[in-house]
Amino acid sequence: MTIEAPPARWTAQWKELYAEVITTGLCTGCAGCVVTCPHDVIGYEHEEGKYVPFHLEEELGADNCIHGEKGCTTCTRACPRFGAWESAADTHLFGRVRQPDEMAGIWRRLLLTRATDADQHAKGQDGGFVSAMLIWLLANDYIEAAMVSGVEDDDAWKAKPVLARTPQEVLATAGSRYTYCANPLALRDAKEAGLSRLALVGMGCQTSSPPIMWDRKAGKASRPFLFNIGLLCSKTFDDAIFPELFEAKYGLAKADMLKMNIKGVFQVWMRDGSYHEIDLKECHHWTRTGCLHCPDFAAEHADISTGGIGEDNDWTLTIVRTELGEEVLDRMLADGTILARPAQEDEKAMKLLRLLSIVSRRRWPATADPAPAVGVPPPKKKAPTAEPAATASPS
Ligand SMILES: Cc1cc2nc3c(=O)[nH]c(=O)nc-3n(C[C@H](O)[C@H](O)[C@H](O)COP(=O)(O)OP(=O)(O)OC[C@H]3O[C@@H](n4cnc5c(N)ncnc54)[C@H](O)[C@@H]3O)c2cc1C
Ligand code: SF4
Ligand code: SF4
Repeated sequence: MTIEAPPARWTAQWKELYAEVITTGLCTGCAGCVVTCPHDVIGYEHEEGKYVPFHLEEELGADNCIHGEKGCTTCTRACPRFGAWESAADTHLFGRVRQPDEMAGIWRRLLLTRATDADQHAKGQDGGFVSAMLIWLLANDYIEAAMVSGVEDDDAWKAKPVLARTPQEVLATAGSRYTYCANPLALRDAKEAGLSRLALVGMGCQTSSPPIMWDRKAGKASRPFLFNIGLLCSKTFDDAIFPELFEAKYGLAKADMLKMNIKGVFQVWMRDGSYHEIDLKECHHWTRTGCLHCPDFAAEHADISTGGIGEDNDWTLTIVRTELGEEVLDRMLADGTILARPAQEDEKAMKLLRLLSIVSRRRWPATADPAPAVGVPPPKKKAPTAEPAATASPS
């Protein structure tokens, strides 16, 4: 008879999180560790150039935690960049790790969807699917509220995490802001309001956190997260892009902007009816630091992930990943809340999904857990130019 060794005890605390994730630049600023800390000793500033957690107690310095020394491990159990996070979340959600070729993660169905309700469709960034789904989840008592991104009262483009409890609040927060918004921070408002059945809307950096918590048995902290809706994402920008690029170079004032989107270029619609395109290469300088090493374009651990890479602007690319996601999607289709068609009809979107997933995975550092880089093809070498070297030199 062979006696199996007991599983190794999870002992990693803030000290290990700080060394492995925060000082190495892997931290995305998702705030998973912040909202789950049972001792409330992890601080976070939802501000330009910050979005990184820090320890509030000075007792053991910035890099250690007295509660951690006494056995608290919640922060590392909640962090979707600590240790072998991709394989842990994959196995927990899908019973296996992704195949090397599954660049956009594991999924059940790929669809293009749109809300049938005209208001939901008009207010949504793409097909209004996310807002339609939140309203449906509220109406059908799957959730009591959703953690989403609202905006500041005095600035329609400064994103802030908010809790949406009604269809009106969901619609008021529809659309995309391309600056960072740590939606899990809205968990604090939910706790204050005594709400415990929640959906999280967020980019992959945020929606991987609940499955990691469930897998690593973070306990009470993980229970309110019932439904995860992911947003496909290559990067977010610093808020400084508004004054320093859009306004300074193109004269586009933030206060006059009506809508923005990214479709190969940065698209901006202004209140005066004008439309502008800005080359994405120009925007790269304002990429938020927390995105530089992120390997997850396709929000691979959400119940359903959504994006706007479809050929038609007014449909949402919808990646159904979990059984729960599929159950809700089927019910929404059956009662006419949404329309859907196979995403495979849109070959360009399928190619982009794979390509952009690969591009993001290439950013993951070789010094970290290898899983996110498994199967990633190396970049194609540029063909040498036929021109003689002398003509390429500045004259
Ligand atoms: C920062 C960011 C980058 C993105 N990058 C891509 C991309 O590269 N390719 C792609 O195909 N799709 C991208 N998307 C997803 C796309 O813009 C749409 O959000 C998605 O297609 C859903 O559209 P919808 O009409 O169904 O959603 P809607 O019904 O409009 O709902 C959108 C939801 O997103 C939330 N939200 C808005 N801004 C933020 C934010 N900054 N942080 C967190 N939550 C937010 C809103 O609160 C709302 O709940 C990105 C989204 C964001 C927020
Ligand atoms: S990635 Fe998220 S959970 Fe991990 S340290 Fe950063 S903010 Fe905390
Ligand atoms: S690229 Fe998107 S998913 Fe990745 S860390 Fe940045 S905001 Fe999060």
